[in-house]
Amino acid sequence: MIGIPALLGNPPAFSETVPVARPTMPSGPDVLERIGATLRSGQVTNGAQVRAFEEETAEFLNVPHVVAVSSCTTGLLLLLRCLGLRGKVVVPSFTFMATGHAVVWNGMELVFADSDPLTCTLDPESVAAVAPGAAAILAVHTFGAPCDTERLQAVANDSGSVLLFDAAHGFGGRYPDGTMIGSKGLAEVFSLSPTKTLSAGEGGLISTGDASLARDLRTARVYGNAGGYDATMVGLSGRLPEMAAILGRAALPMLPSWLSRRRELAARYQRNLSGIPGLGFQSIMTGAESSVKDFTVRVDPEFGLERDELATALAAENVETRPYFDPPLHRQAVYRNVPVVTSLAGTDRLSATSLTLPMHSLMQSSLVDRICAVIHDIHRHAERIAGVLRAADPAPQPVTAVSSPERTGIA
Ligand SMILES: *Cc1c(COP(=O)(O)O)cnc(C)c1O
Repeated sequence: MIGIPALLGNPPAFSETVPVARPTMPSGPDVLERIGATLRSGQVTNGAQVRAFEEETAEFLNVPHVVAVSSCTTGLLLLLRCLGLRGKVVVPSFTFMATGHAVVWNGMELVFADSDPLTCTLDPESVAAVAPGAAAILAVHTFGAPCDTERLQAVANDSGSVLLFDAAHGFGGRYPDGTMIGSKGLAEVFSLSPTKTLSAGEGGLISTGDASLARDLRTARVYGNAGGYDATMVGLSGRLPEMAAILGRAALPMLPSWLSRRRELAARYQRNLSGIPGLGFQSIMTGAESSVKDFTVRVDPEFGLERDELATALAAENVETRPYFDPPLHRQAVYRNVPVVTSLAGTDRLSATSLTLPMHSLMQSSLVDRICAVIHDIHRHAERIAGVLRAADPAPQPVTAVSSPERTGIA
């Protein structure tokens, strides 16, 4: 088995596909019992489960208010709407498309700032260069690693903008001061979709210390109807269903053990792969803890293969990977008309070299070891693999060869 990569003629290292992500959904008798009880009660929305889930997550995050919504995207949309912001919003281009969409759905303008190739999060200096005059900075805790909130908050204060977080990846992560992701800026918005650390099937959570913002968000998620059928704002149908809250509540007590497993697996990947030239790892701020939503490596030229070639070689071994986030927002069809006003060199480098490897909360350490052994073998045979791939197809390998969105749902 060990030795010759599949692209050079061996059978694949894995007989079944190793998925890049896999949702961890409690499905024990207690969960099924609660679902049954909710179905029989007829109260399938706007009920006690969502209220309890909001209280329990607020306690977990140690924040004053959590508002549950139908998705992170909905949460971001409603947050910008409730704040009544106009004009420009600074976002990383190295992020998932929903970060940008929320801005544009609100009729606001995107301003892309660069991301640091080491941290994969917004570079505060790049933000400082474009933030003057912007209404908001919407930062992302990329792959679950908290961004540099202190410096971003200083930039926001200087430029008179509010600081918000797309914390889709971040549930369970910690800032260097020991507080949880969810506690900084004016508000942070989490995703509960299947590939995130805490999932409710689908859904989103907005955490904030601002009581009146929380109240407005609760109105906004029910069409802007504060109760009298005399809408006070243009809201959305953006509720989290009771069924999803049941799933989220069942997952929450398990999360600390899942997070520590993810952190162990990430450390194990990094230990196993650290000897390979040309592989780089995301740096996490000292004292901070990533939620490890994803384990992502940078594939630099010294590895001997391009990122897409390594992905193709791993796909041949039945190891699924994702080139998160390629293309970055400023190169996506819908955003190509957005003026690029500062260098996005770090973003372009990240997009061209990042590769997300399999990670999920119940993954065995031995699986990480086997994937790492395969990557070692691929590296050892890089020259011959490059020869095979470049002869077969001189154009870059299509990244879709390694993605199967239908398998895990979404991003
Ligand atoms: C997954 C994701 C979202 C969207 O989350 P939904 O709950 O599916 O709307 C937004 N931003 C980032 C960075 C994401 O990865």
